[in-house]
Amino acid sequence: SSGVETKEFQTEIRQLLDIVINSLYTDKEIFLRELISNAADAMEKVRYLQLTGADVKDGDLPLEITLTADEETHTLTVADPGIGMNREELVENLGTIAHSGSKEFIKRLAEGTQDFKLIGQFGVGFYSAFMVADKVELYTRSYRPEAEGCLWSSDGSGSYTVEDTPDLVRGTKIILHLKEDARDFAKEETLKRIVKQYSGFVPYPVLLNGQKVNTVQALWTKNKNEITDEEYNEFYKYIANAYDEPLFRLHFSSDAPISLQSLLFVPKENFEHWGFGRLDPGVNLYCKKVLIQEQSKDILPEWMRFVKGVIDSEELPLNISRETMQDSALVQKINKAVTGRFLKFLDEQAKSEPEKYKEFYDKFGVFIKEGAANDFGHRNELVKLMRFESMKTEAGKFISLSDYVQNMAEEQKAVYYVNGPSREVIEAGPYLEIFRSKGLDVIYTREAIEDYVLSLMGEFEGKKLISADQAELDLDLPGQEEKTEGEESLSEEALNALTAWLKEALGSKVTEVRVSKRLADSPAIVLSPYGTYSMQRMMQLVNRDL
Ligand code: ADP
Ligand code: MG
Repeated sequence: SSGVETKEFQTEIRQLLDIVINSLYTDKEIFLRELISNAADAMEKVRYLQLTGADVKDGDLPLEITLTADEETHTLTVADPGIGMNREELVENLGTIAHSGSKEFIKRLAEGTQDFKLIGQFGVGFYSAFMVADKVELYTRSYRPEAEGCLWSSDGSGSYTVEDTPDLVRGTKIILHLKEDARDFAKEETLKRIVKQYSGFVPYPVLLNGQKVNTVQALWTKNKNEITDEEYNEFYKYIANAYDEPLFRLHFSSDAPISLQSLLFVPKENFEHWGFGRLDPGVNLYCKKVLIQEQSKDILPEWMRFVKGVIDSEELPLNISRETMQDSALVQKINKAVTGRFLKFLDEQAKSEPEKYKEFYDKFGVFIKEGAANDFGHRNELVKLMRFESMKTEAGKFISLSDYVQNMAEEQKAVYYVNGPSREVIEAGPYLEIFRSKGLDVIYTREAIEDYVLSLMGEFEGKKLISADQAELDLDLPGQEEKTEGEESLSEEALNALTAWLKEALGSKVTEVRVSKRLADSPAIVLSPYGTYSMQRMMQLVNRDL
């Protein structure tokens, strides 16, 4: 199969290219970031292969990205000595889409969202080249000694060609034939600015017509006080493929029980909220600046998937495999150390910058709750990070369980909570009456998962956690038996007659009708003998998911 072969793009890619080519999107310059990041990924893989002793073609090539801009021919060439691709890989990687997330992204673009700049986050960054080029030629040769070189070429309209091409060196060279309105991208000043802006932290030299234009740094290995906020933010944008500034950052190192350096960021936006599906983990694992595992699934608990960043430990073996990752004691140690540190950090932030913490919790609280429900090992810390409105807070203001406990009267034994879809609905219901009349605060939970977590906990700082809609509510406080002035009580006989009549009238809709001491204004209240209403809702949720 050495001749020229013409192949159709997969439907979704055709759709995507159609949008890319006709887009009026103004930040077309992001295409360069995507190509440079692919080049860096490909070289990172070479570095890893060499370190683990694989046989790599052209082993002496310096690992650097070369940009060649030519204003006369209106071309821009991006070349890297990375792992390259053989013919099958080429067709697989630049012709089909593997991620379901990318399909969702393309659907959204087709519906008219302008979130183009996110293209790199959805595994289709390469195609952004067609924003600026009306023809793309890609020469590539795999690192495998026996592989053949190949040329991939397309004008982005439905199909592409591949053909064998002899005498290539290892890696990939992409020639962009710039569209008339994109000829600026063959200008040195323009390119220099773009590389600095978007790719300043690529861990390999980027040469533009022979001159180096980026700063090569593994920022996490540097000393905190030698790093500026701008450098941190640029680094975040680079590793997270992001365009926003991070909400939080945590840079720390530890020596015991394991030696590691870590730089973690919380983004400004929660993309799971946007309906893009479940986030992939965002932390990469390094050993002495060599990438061991990208978006590592095993290094941090699942609920931490919103965190972006780097963990570098010199104690990790370079050739650790996916399987050994899962049950490696070393990985467990790293997990424990980093998660613990991150939880402590959040707790500190909540205290020192409550407003900002609230912003964090509004967006990322779902992950905290998920962790509190699933991550047994960190449940206590996570529950402390949860926030609630309560009867005594203003609408939209938060307290923690610790706040609640601190403000409890001395004789109050338990922490009370009640579930409802909104503050208004909760406050209109009869459950709060007794608490209001006793001056006791009640925490408002909104989601079933919050009740689920509180019932799993059972108690907090030595106080029982009790749902206010529980049938057997014993408030046991002084004043309970007091009668309001003017109140008349019915005789026991009359009460018995009334409850018997009600039971008969309601029939099998209720299991029991009895006299309540908890009501102040409402004549009656419905309670569940089978645990709380929200627990039942939670069980329904769980069963539906199965
Ligand atoms: P992503 O980088 O998120 O996987 P892209 O659309 O940018 O998505 O690239 C698709 C795939 O094409 C990459 O995963 C990689 O396998 C391959 N690829 C792209 N550029 C290069 C390159 N310079 N060298 C080797 N492989 C590349
Ligand atoms: Mg990419």
